[in-house]
Amino acid sequence: MTDPFLVLLDRDGTINIDKHYLSDPDGVEILPGAISGLLRLQAAGAVLAIVTNQSGVGRGYFDLETAWAVNKRVVELLAQHGVTIAHSAMCPHAPEEACTCRKPAPELALECARATGLALTSSWTIGDKASDVQLGRGVGGKGLLIAASPAQDFGQSASCTDLDAAADFILQERGL
Ligand SMILES: [Mg+2]
Repeated sequence: MTDPFLVLLDRDGTINIDKHYLSDPDGVEILPGAISGLLRLQAAGAVLAIVTNQSGVGRGYFDLETAWAVNKRVVELLAQHGVTIAHSAMCPHAPEEACTCRKPAPELALECARATGLALTSSWTIGDKASDVQLGRGVGGKGLLIAASPAQDFGQSASCTDLDAAADFILQERGL
């Protein structure tokens, strides 16, 4: 039995193709490597949560209900392949609203920790933006960047091309 640990997942550009302010659940497409990587992390004890900034709501591009409908579709598509998302947390605000939940602010990570009962100090945050890496580090965990060819160092613990490669790295780090 492996100890459970929390993995905070960015959504758009990490789990599914980033279509920039996607508001149609039927437009959700899971990225290559996502299913296999998440299945392997899960088998190794990872409890998976989604932390997503959806500023399209705050910008007036779509409403909160629509944002959650898209998220539900992502969770459903993963579930069809056996991947369980334990909790989803969303920031619906535009950057200029200066809220306390937009990544890299820690509020949504804390929400996931409360919802799952797991510590952030042993967590990994995986995403395709600096804000994802900064969130992971800011809460005392590790940040892993998903990027085809990382051009910048955001202080990430690692850079991987997709979630399958991310799983390789994390499992190796945990000696699994
Ligand atoms: Mg993203």
